[in-house]
Amino acid sequence: MTFDLHTHTTASDGSLAPAELLQLAQARGVTVLAITDHDTLAGYFSAQHWLAANEAENNELTLIPGVEVSTQWGRQGIHVLGLNVNPHNAQLTELLSTQQQLRAERADRIMRKLEKLGMPGVAQHVKERIDAATQIGRPHIAASLVALQFVDSAEKAFKKYLGNGKPADVSIDWSTLEAVIAAINAAGGVAVLAHPAKYKMTSSKQRALLKDFVRLGGRGIEVISGAQMPDTTKKLARLAQKFDLLVSCGSDFHSADARWQSLGNLSTIPEFCNAVWQDWASAQIR
Ligand code: AMP
Ligand code: MN
Ligand code: MN
Ligand code: MN
Repeated sequence: MTFDLHTHTTASDGSLAPAELLQLAQARGVTVLAITDHDTLAGYFSAQHWLAANEAENNELTLIPGVEVSTQWGRQGIHVLGLNVNPHNAQLTELLSTQQQLRAERADRIMRKLEKLGMPGVAQHVKERIDAATQIGRPHIAASLVALQFVDSAEKAFKKYLGNGKPADVSIDWSTLEAVIAAINAAGGVAVLAHPAKYKMTSSKQRALLKDFVRLGGRGIEVISGAQMPDTTKKLARLAQKFDLLVSCGSDFHSADARWQSLGNLSTIPEFCNAVWQDWASAQIR
């Protein structure tokens, strides 16, 4: 079995449409795929629809409903994956609709700041390029800044304007960590701390976060996120063990351009870990 439990589509900031992602996953030999778009299940629903319509071509792939929710711990922004959630759960649906509203407001505020900083026309450019149903994120804004020649790469757009503490950064209160974990649990899913190595925390902070995460009902940690150093995997696996957490692995695939986020191309989780999918009876996989 080849698992990839963290991927994005055009429903958020991924470059492939859900059906394209499925086809690539099949070509890569992925057998269990979770679509985890930012704050939306729309990519999952659309993929599910495509699979149902193309049953004959799909003999291998199991699709897991998932979502990556933006939240914060103190002042640190963090991402929590909800894996194998019931995508129709009312509490989760409501939480995501709040998140979507916050995303739209945040984007407006960022683009207004850019305008004040002397970069007009970004909002219009973004609007013309992304579907109204797409969850807007900073990568869309970065792409427009590049297209309008205000910067020469998305990376620079983050470095100069959009990144934390930069001139066009805006702070927003996402749903609380408590509410996010509660909604994922209410939907029968597993709340997994996404890409813990990305938060640039000291290890004591990381432990404090995990303590709170577990206290609030979080049950998993992503020990493998894309291509990473074996040492990082080992450290995270030990943390999982210490906090009695299930472990997950995902590429965080957004587009074929990022080679360190290659779909389905992951190292195996250490043997002493308990995989998040161990309790997923095939009947449970929706
Ligand atoms: P947002 O969801 O709007 O907070 O944007 C976060 C997303 O931006 C992440 O999921 C990444 O896909 C992308 N991202 C974060 N940092 C960078 C960066 N330095 N350069 C390019 N993309 C980034
Ligand atoms: Mn993203
Ligand atoms: Mn993330
Ligand atoms: Mn992600």
